[in-house]
Amino acid sequence: MRLPEKFNFANLPTKIEKLSRLSEELGKEIYIKRDDQTGGEISGNKIRKLEYAVREAIDNGCNYLITCGGIQSNHARATAAVARKLGMEVYLVLRGNQDSELEGNYFLDKILGAKIKLVAPEEFNSHIENIMENIKKELEKEGYKPYIIPMGASNGVGSLGYCAAVEEILSQEKELGIKFDAIVSTVGSGGTYAGLYYGNYIKDNNAVVYGINICDDAEYFKNIVLKLFKGISIYTGEEIHVDKKDIDILDGYIGSGYALSNENEIEFIHKLAKLEGLILDPVYTGKAMYGLVEEIKKGTFDNHKNILFIHTGGIFGWNSVARSMVK
Ligand SMILES: *Cc1c(COP(=O)(O)O)cnc(C)c1O
Repeated sequence: MRLPEKFNFANLPTKIEKLSRLSEELGKEIYIKRDDQTGGEISGNKIRKLEYAVREAIDNGCNYLITCGGIQSNHARATAAVARKLGMEVYLVLRGNQDSELEGNYFLDKILGAKIKLVAPEEFNSHIENIMENIKKELEKEGYKPYIIPMGASNGVGSLGYCAAVEEILSQEKELGIKFDAIVSTVGSGGTYAGLYYGNYIKDNNAVVYGINICDDAEYFKNIVLKLFKGISIYTGEEIHVDKKDIDILDGYIGSGYALSNENEIEFIHKLAKLEGLILDPVYTGKAMYGLVEEIKKGTFDNHKNILFIHTGGIFGWNSVARSMVK
């Protein structure tokens, strides 16, 4: 696979660990790739994407990063940290309001000195692109060279991070003497899944790549993923042609909605923490892993033995509401 130059910020390769007690309970071999351990302030999946996206920004002579996300966006926090590591300025547009509690990622954004604009949910959802474009214009007037990273860094260049992660997984398979027949990730803005799928396809690897969406629906993400394949191919020079029906996004695990937890999910995360010493986040991986276990019970994974789940991070997303639900 031909990939452009990137920065090296993440602790790579991330470890692959077996969840032996969960495996025994479910009659499967379940492994977890610790992308939650890519770093401290840069931890989680977004840093793999930012290594490519921010490299492009720097190569284009930019000195100011603009991005957006939810009030507890892991992506926004990682972007702020990377900007500071490179001596750049950073502007975050966050979906929230003035009384949003100053905790978790939002607090880290603040301590990193990011310029923050809070935008109410309705306005954010319908106008975020314009809002970021206007900020860019304003900053240009002040003499800066800004670079916009879209939500979750889920565009062609960002998704390259997970195309490259497939190469990492394939070399770990050799070291470990294990062949994963299913790779499972959370889908929040689609770039992680698109990158994994593209890399798996180009490498002619016969694992099935599954996504579990934690917002919107499967149909919405299948269209996004097809668009992302085109975006990726601009950088790799290789287009792939995939039928929508071959994109395996499993719907049904949004629960109460984006960043809203229900009791089953929290109970599941708590149970897994006690069983394996592994802590998932309430917004992304907790919902997706809950979904994976449900789908295994339903028989969706009957043709798979070795399953690799990507722990995409999110520990700072344990907000006060989710914390109070742990019994
Ligand atoms: C952003 C995020 C995801 C989803 O990844 P996408 O590439 O946006 O689909 C999953 N887990 C965590 C912890 C995240 O922050």
